[in-house]
Amino acid sequence: ARPAGPDARVTPMMAQYIEIKAANPGCLLFYRMGDFFELFFEDAEIASRALGIALTKRGKHQGLDIAMCGVPVDRADDYLHRLIALGHRVAVCEQTEDPAEARKRGGKSVVQRAVVRLVTPGTLTEERLLEPARANLLLAVARRRVSETAFCYGLASVDISTGRFSVSETDAAGLAAEIARLDPREIVLPDTIHDDPDLKPLWRDQRAALTPIPRDGLDAASAERRLKEFYGVATLDAFGTFSRAEIAAAGAALSYVERTQFGSRPALQPPARLDGGATLLIDPATRANLELTRTLGGERSGSLLAAIDRTLTAAGGRLLAERLAGPLTDLAAITRRQDALAFLLAERELRDALRERLARAPDASRALSRLSLGRGGPRDLACLRDGLLAARKIAARLDGIDDLPDELAEARDMARGVPPELGAELSRALADELPLLRRDGGFIRPGYDPALDEARELAQDSRRVIAALQARYAAETGCRTLRVKHNNVIGYFVEVPQAAGEELARADNAFIHRQTMAGAMRFTTTELGELEQKIASASDRALRIELGHFDALAAAINGAAPAIAAAAEALAVLDVTAALADLADDLAWTRPKLDDSLAFHIGGGRHPVVEAALKRDGEPFIPNSTEIGGERDGKILLVTGPNMGGKSTYLRQNAVIAVLAQTGAFVPANSAHLGIIDRLFSRVGAADDLARGRSTFMVEMVETAAILNQATRRSLVILDEIGRGTATFDGLSIAWAAIEHLHEENRCRALFATHFHELTALAERLPRLSNATLRMTEWNGDVVFLHEVVPGAADRSYGLQVARLAGLPATVVERAKVILSELEKQDRERPKAALIDDLPLFAAARPATPPARLAEPDPLRTALAAIDPDELSPREALEAMYRLKALA
Ligand code: ADP
Repeated sequence: ARPAGPDARVTPMMAQYIEIKAANPGCLLFYRMGDFFELFFEDAEIASRALGIALTKRGKHQGLDIAMCGVPVDRADDYLHRLIALGHRVAVCEQTEDPAEARKRGGKSVVQRAVVRLVTPGTLTEERLLEPARANLLLAVARRRVSETAFCYGLASVDISTGRFSVSETDAAGLAAEIARLDPREIVLPDTIHDDPDLKPLWRDQRAALTPIPRDGLDAASAERRLKEFYGVATLDAFGTFSRAEIAAAGAALSYVERTQFGSRPALQPPARLDGGATLLIDPATRANLELTRTLGGERSGSLLAAIDRTLTAAGGRLLAERLAGPLTDLAAITRRQDALAFLLAERELRDALRERLARAPDASRALSRLSLGRGGPRDLACLRDGLLAARKIAARLDGIDDLPDELAEARDMARGVPPELGAELSRALADELPLLRRDGGFIRPGYDPALDEARELAQDSRRVIAALQARYAAETGCRTLRVKHNNVIGYFVEVPQAAGEELARADNAFIHRQTMAGAMRFTTTELGELEQKIASASDRALRIELGHFDALAAAINGAAPAIAAAAEALAVLDVTAALADLADDLAWTRPKLDDSLAFHIGGGRHPVVEAALKRDGEPFIPNSTEIGGERDGKILLVTGPNMGGKSTYLRQNAVIAVLAQTGAFVPANSAHLGIIDRLFSRVGAADDLARGRSTFMVEMVETAAILNQATRRSLVILDEIGRGTATFDGLSIAWAAIEHLHEENRCRALFATHFHELTALAERLPRLSNATLRMTEWNGDVVFLHEVVPGAADRSYGLQVARLAGLPATVVERAKVILSELEKQDRERPKAALIDDLPLFAAARPATPPARLAEPDPLRTALAAIDPDELSPREALEAMYRLKALA
């Protein structure tokens, strides 16, 4: 049953509910009633299913029962978390007046309520709803037509949990890569972009929640107005120069944030471009294949990020993930990071000191954001107090070092940029033990405010008076077990055992009977009532004073928000730099030499994730070198070798080293010299993509097409086992043609692994292609992989040995040997060299000659083998007989 429009039989409360619900389409409505958020109608059904909570009824609407379920307010975060994770959006509707006010208005007045925020995946701020080491980005997309057929896209990403706000622009080809780099939780986009048929696959493949919005005045001009208003500036020039698409996207992001936060003003930093400008373009498939920030299975653990992350703060973890997801292409910016890293690598003592302090620094930027949205608690104040203190101490540790590299010097100055009075004030104000919620009170330190101390003493005093009262009443009544107690229903009361109670009730005295319990009776007195009033008003006053201090402190913090955010950012930079230095020191990584050439030299390179996994098993990783650089064009290395020999690892390690190098990190190698890469492409492995209903081969071809169409001379291309997903000759010819295209057209640096040995002959024809193979030996009839890359081609494939190692039944392996020798005999009669010579550049392969005499099975035998007599019903058995007869 959907809520319909208000009608005469609707209760005032339901009418209010329906109105609010209608104003927030697409959201579950959390409707505050006392200590619960209630959900009604369809919302209740959805939530009860999603959360596993009981569905009940409350009254009727248009003759039908109203479904209802509720979650307690103090546990609402947990339920929100689960609903958001399932992709729901929630409108939180609070009571905006004291219920007593509504009662005063009399009649059927309902408590005023209003939605105070929309909780969506991309606009979370609660500690419990956020992953500490992951940014929580909301991405807005806008586009502008640049020609008849082409658009450019503006992207604006906001993390309201930290206030980061960044923009970029891309063309249609780079859109998927740019979104993958940002890895947002929610994407806000105009209907027109959402429904564009060309972009359907892109949106379908997103992990992020999609929020289409109608195209309303999101043109660059009104977006600019909105931004200027929000930041109170006359022009956006102060923040940088932005394209119109970027401004439109930034405006859209901002208005969505404002729409979800209902008037609370988040402390957003001004929009900024990524420092250093452009990033290394890595398309989503490559990013996934290389498992940069998560594995193919979607886990963080096992990814490159997890293997290199030694950061100590949540903000540092987020920054490292961001840097790894978006390596730079600007030499100066990369060098700046390298210099800082090298400095901390050399200065061990300084690094340790910084890391010791960083380990104790809290996540100030997220606390800051909660405070600016009016959602913070006393512990957020404490978090800032500790964060500011840590920033000051860390800055002080970097003082007086003259040769400090730019990046570190800048971080030091930013860390010092917060007025010291603020931290001092917080330290003075805050108590040692802090409650979670403001309204619990008790967070202001005694001695901070005499008026507060006085109110607290009064409340405290009255409690002493009550103790005295209890003693007096006990003496007067002669009942030694008399107790003065308190509960929320009847307030303070006197409790005595049943017998004594009956006596008290009969006598003429000050005790007024209130309740009879099993074995006990409760009374009040006028005296108690008066005391209660006093206590309540004193505690009330104390709490009001405390809340006043809270607001003042929060306001002071908000006033310094830009400086605090900058200080927090500085700590994150220091954390990342020190962490990478620690890693480089520990694992003996080297500083790569980067320049604008087309060099690609790696001496003794390793794959950090595989190496770490092997290390856990006590196995060594065999380092391998790579040389595919050139003066004017890149070179291609064709890698053949047995399965399990280490081809994939070798290919990926080179890509990973390039990514790390352009992130500004050191690399797992003995030496490295790389010319900056503009785009990284990889087509690795053959993970089936059944979820998208595309065959492995189709996916492979789509990705290969993208590479051949887009790779420039500055790109790095990694291709593994192209053409594996189809018939041998199809596959071979596709791989062949792809290599020729890379060599002649793209002319980029490339690594190409294949099991088609025929391709090694191409080295004779293509001057910039060379062969390499993974060395191995045989020992007692078993293959032994040496994982060492050496020049040349593999002499044979060792597939059968590997199959045996894998536990294929001996009979199958034996049979395969016979088949193989037959096939090899055929092959010798028609030498490969001839095939190569027959085929000029870009020629098609001849049709396959199937090894007919080996493969043709007897149909009768096959059918017979497929029958299991024990499984057949009499009728099926009869049918089988007829079938076999027909085959004979
Ligand atoms: P291929 O792609 O040739 O089938 P992989 O790259 O998947 O082989 O490697 C197979 C296994 O060999 C890896 O899981 C790893 O344990 C081991 N391996 C690969 N490269 C090395 C190396 N350089 N040193 C040590 N072990 C390696």
